[in-house]
Amino acid sequence: MLTITKEFSFHAAHRLRCSGFSEEENRRIYGNCANIHGHTYRLRVTLTGQPDETGMILHFDTLKAIVRREVLDRYDHADLTALDEYTHRPATAECMAEHIFAVLDAALRSDRYRLHEVAVYETPTAWATRTRHV
Ligand SMILES: [Zn+2]
Repeated sequence: MLTITKEFSFHAAHRLRCSGFSEEENRRIYGNCANIHGHTYRLRVTLTGQPDETGMILHFDTLKAIVRREVLDRYDHADLTALDEYTHRPATAECMAEHIFAVLDAALRSDRYRLHEVAVYETPTAWATRTRHV
């Protein structure tokens, strides 16, 4: 399998909470992460496919423009908790990886390549990965 990966970075704030839980339950479950705080997130987007006559699966600049339009324009310097997609689920790295995968999968449709994996890093040592089921 041949893949290409591009890494992005953005700054965002969030506070972890489940809308179905009380403030006390959220505080017990998420601890300090129930307080609003920020991360410098890293996002890794991986495609699999075959290079065309240019030798590329997809031009990295094209991938960058799509990820910027579909994700970064909304997420960079945002309060993730205020976004529609995290109203009913917490903005954890896991939920973010699931959501971003769905958004990019819809935006990256081609006969020659497809989205393979999305990884969301909250810190350099903590991340969530959503990989396409085969
Ligand atoms: Zn956090």
